[in-house]
Amino acid sequence: KPLIIGLTGGIGSGKTTVANAFAAKGIELVDADVVARQVVAPGSAALQQIVDHFGPNMLLADGSLDRAALRQRVFSHAADKDWLNALLHPLIRQKMQDELAAASSPYVLFIAPLLLENQLQSYIDRLVVVDVTEQTQLARTLLRDGGSEQQVAAIMAAQVDRTQRLAAADDVIDNSAGPEQLAPQIDALHQRYLKLAAQRR
Ligand code: ATP
Repeated sequence: KPLIIGLTGGIGSGKTTVANAFAAKGIELVDADVVARQVVAPGSAALQQIVDHFGPNMLLADGSLDRAALRQRVFSHAADKDWLNALLHPLIRQKMQDELAAASSPYVLFIAPLLLENQLQSYIDRLVVVDVTEQTQLARTLLRDGGSEQQVAAIMAAQVDRTQRLAAADDVIDNSAGPEQLAPQIDALHQRYLKLAAQRR
């Protein structure tokens, strides 16, 4: 089983930017958000169960899940939300574990924006947090996605705060300055993780 490094950080902190730099070094990535989408991909058993349960209006014209329709349906129906979570959570967790166990690079990076919120610490050996101030999170997210300050603030309010994230971190990547500040930090962590991975053998 490879060494598993969890990567988390708030919205707009730079997780994708950081993960791409590790991937460029040949490190395999498992992305919790990607896995969550794959389990309801067209043709999946879970998507069929959702359609059987909530009806065909859960599908878009191309046969993929209508996430907005599903979100709206479960938003005001607690029992439906419980049913959906009972269906999807075990599938997502199993697939995440399978992919992490199957990784063949010296260590694997597990990108989980909600790692702490969803209490996925038991999946990982070590946690690296991408850290910026809340003002930077807000500014970069608005620059990337548009939308209103209130929308982004609401998402941030639903996530653990900066202090809690830093308290849980084994390693911290400071992404407050430009991208040129990232490379040396990532190089140093990569060397450390290679060493830790070698020690486990
Ligand atoms: P989310 O959780 O919202 O998907 P994320 O943590 O994956 O976000 P990124 O998408 O990597 O964050 O970064 C957010 C935005 O900030 C992107 O537009 C990215 O290009 C930009 N960005 C990342 N790092 C820096 C940096 N050091 N300087 C300036 N802009 C940056």
